[in-house]
Amino acid sequence: MEVMYKSTRSDSAPITASQAILKGLAPDGGLFVPDHIPAFDKSLSELSKLSYQELAYEVMKLYLTDFTKEELEGCIARAYDEKFDTKKIAPLKKTGKDTWYLELFHGKTIAFKDMALSILPHLLTTSAKKNQVKNEIVILTATSGDTGKAALAGFADVPGTRIIVFYPKDGVSKVQELQMVTQKGDNTDVIGIKGNFDDAQTGVKMMFSDTELAERMNAKGYQFSSANSINIGRLVPQIVYYVYAYVSLLAEGSITEGESINVCVPTGNFGNILAAYYAKLMGLPIDKLICASNENKVLFDFFASGTYDRNRDFILTSSPSMDILISSNLERLIYRICDHDAAKNAKLMQALTSGGVYEITEDQKKALSDFWGGMATEEECFTKIRDLYKEEKYVIDTHTAVAGAVSDKYRAETGDEKKMVIASTASPYKFSRSVMSAIDPANKDKEEFALIDELEKVSGVAVPQAIEEIRKAEVRHKTVCEKDGMKAEVERILGL
Ligand SMILES: *Cc1c(COP(=O)(O)O)cnc(C)c1O
Repeated sequence: MEVMYKSTRSDSAPITASQAILKGLAPDGGLFVPDHIPAFDKSLSELSKLSYQELAYEVMKLYLTDFTKEELEGCIARAYDEKFDTKKIAPLKKTGKDTWYLELFHGKTIAFKDMALSILPHLLTTSAKKNQVKNEIVILTATSGDTGKAALAGFADVPGTRIIVFYPKDGVSKVQELQMVTQKGDNTDVIGIKGNFDDAQTGVKMMFSDTELAERMNAKGYQFSSANSINIGRLVPQIVYYVYAYVSLLAEGSITEGESINVCVPTGNFGNILAAYYAKLMGLPIDKLICASNENKVLFDFFASGTYDRNRDFILTSSPSMDILISSNLERLIYRICDHDAAKNAKLMQALTSGGVYEITEDQKKALSDFWGGMATEEECFTKIRDLYKEEKYVIDTHTAVAGAVSDKYRAETGDEKKMVIASTASPYKFSRSVMSAIDPANKDKEEFALIDELEKVSGVAVPQAIEEIRKAEVRHKTVCEKDGMKAEVERILGL
């Protein structure tokens, strides 16, 4: 059955998957959601015999129903190839007796954003062809650090596209910044803003809904699309690895078919955990979805109280990709618990925009029982890195450590002993300063690349190619702007 996509904020006519991928965000400011969640058409044991690429096809075909088999298989083949440093694409690392880290960082930029952003450019250019789009597609992206680089790597020199990335100048790690500002490709632009991630995301969202700007762009042969996690072309590929994790455990005999597991996800914009939720709704036996927050614990408070309140200080933590107070993808969940009532959802989102806060009803709160919200302080996250290293000689990054710590808390507080899959969202190399300081505080003042070499010794994992590349690369992008100067930068770059 065909899956169509509609906005979370109005009852406008449903559109196809390829149209939703092209648009990114709905014109009314809402997010596109599938009109129904498809069920698997093969058993889990059948799926457990497939390669990552074959499984990706089986899952994605259920959502992207207007893509032909050839189109979708072509996109998958070009995305999940030797850019990844392991054939498994998303391997599992077992620690303790019943916990697995699902390593989502084996792609080009060593963060989980590669899982979706290595395929999005192909989905997007295929969508453009299918819909006879003649304009050049301008990818406009706000990043808390990892999306930016993964999108740049995915779109660099892809014909028919340009990409402009905005990042918080003082809100990303040294490695993250270097990865972005050294990006090659004639169609790439990277700009630091004097503000935080929410400022960058708000600026980008405003440009997307600026119809006057869209008209001037169209006259010059341009149109915007989004590589942010609000694009369903990112959400759908992320469902795949949760299915892959489950069927891999099944294939190796670590679980039995139908056995429920829990999943714990370090969360920022709520995209990754939402993909796990969609996998559950499709029939994957996941019991609890454990949403792990850092000290920017707006989601933790929301799950506890039913009130979403962004009016609070923005804290810069050592897990910067989760330093977010407006979790955009949560809107898709809110829409669901509003019984798919776009007007109801729009009202809450309006309240969030105007006053920074909204509250859900008791009944709506009950509909969130699949989720468990937890948070970890900086200290708890460092302790988790140190303990896991001591016990298992396994080094995790700071974001993954938030989830590791929250997973421990979940088990201690609930007594739930189900097997746990923790999404491991970045290589520790990407955050080597914080990781090495957690392992030994004496490392705090060492130089970045000295720490990287130290990390290689400690972890026994070779320095990834992504890090070698930035050691000597030339800085190509130096522009910094005020947070209200973003539109002017876009106009300058595109010659509007
Ligand atoms: C983006 C990111 C997250 C947060 O993922 P969301 O989908 O935004 O919730 C967590 N960890 C890392 C390393 C990331 O890059």
